[in-house]
Amino acid sequence: MTSPTFETPKKPLGISPPSFTGVCPLVGYGIKCGLGWHLHHWVGRGVVLGNKKARRYLDQHVNMTWVCGAHNIERWADARRGRQLITWHKVMVEGHHPDELEAFIDGIPWKVQPHEYKWEVLISGVEFGTV
Ligand SMILES: [Zn+2]
Repeated sequence: MTSPTFETPKKPLGISPPSFTGVCPLVGYGIKCGLGWHLHHWVGRGVVLGNKKARRYLDQHVNMTWVCGAHNIERWADARRGRQLITWHKVMVEGHHPDELEAFIDGIPWKVQPHEYKWEVLISGVEFGTV
């Protein structure tokens, strides 16, 4: 599997973007990578509609990941498996500790936490021990 080779993205205004790794977390998943780079919310803002505190929280660096435009636009990044692959990428490529990510998820001021955003679902089918 090859990584996409688009231009390095420019730093978007107003947010602290995650480090750019040059690898789409979803490479090889469903469709071919393409269409440049997008910042993607690991936990989508759409799941906390009407909850301003949660939406602000979700804009934090640890929640953002660069994904290719094709996987973002066609919503592969929002599929359950897509989120699991992004979780793996955040640990193994971006270098976040799983405890940090779990604490982020647990710290979301949910009104109702959807099942697919439970930590055990986000890490289901991913292994952090091996690259
Ligand atoms: Zn991609």
